[in-house]
Amino acid sequence: MGSAEFDRTAKCLYIDSHIVTYGNAVDEQLTRIMREEIECMWNEPNARLYFDEEEYQLIFRITADYKPHIEPEEILGNTDPRCNYFRVEKFAQGNISFVDGIGCNTGYFLLENLYTGSTTAAHEYGHTIGLEHPTHLDLRGKGTPGIMYPRGTLVDAPFQYNPEARAGDGSNGGTMHPMHRRVLPSDIELLRLDRLSPDRPILGEFTSIWHPDHSTLTGNDFFPA
Ligand SMILES: [Zn+2]
Repeated sequence: MGSAEFDRTAKCLYIDSHIVTYGNAVDEQLTRIMREEIECMWNEPNARLYFDEEEYQLIFRITADYKPHIEPEEILGNTDPRCNYFRVEKFAQGNISFVDGIGCNTGYFLLENLYTGSTTAAHEYGHTIGLEHPTHLDLRGKGTPGIMYPRGTLVDAPFQYNPEARAGDGSNGGTMHPMHRRVLPSDIELLRLDRLSPDRPILGEFTSIWHPDHSTLTGNDFFPA
């Protein structure tokens, strides 16, 4: 989730988001890595947009805070559209990182998905500001994968986990390695920033879910009787 601000003097459109991390597998350093990845990757296209026939530079301004002791009430009570709350743990039910919808401000990340250069934080951030996975997941012949392609996407050999593997041979590394994803100009277009309402210049919605550590849940918590 993020808040947009037009600076008509500087001719900039800022997207401001604040990342708050909590959980047992995150610290100041990992929070910094996540922040830098999101900001660097989303600014990489160096996008320029036109509003009222004037050119604006699009700039993502991402800040972050590590809050290990955050209370559920703080997340539930938050009314700042810049704030996103991500739990980070070594274990996740389903063994995947996720956010709570397309256009949201909360989620749960697996530590093993967050190594430097993983692009996981930038991908999940894309979901929070409204982007879905593409429907066509065969990118062979089309070059660099965009940031919103999910694991399992078919790509040209250099972008696979194992460039030697046959495309689609998942057990042998024949699918996209997430570290090759990039935010492309086409990803920026999909944000439809031209549709931003001046009255509510916000990307995403409040989901405001505080997540428990999945390793502490019992079967009954997942499948209530
Ligand atoms: Zn995804």
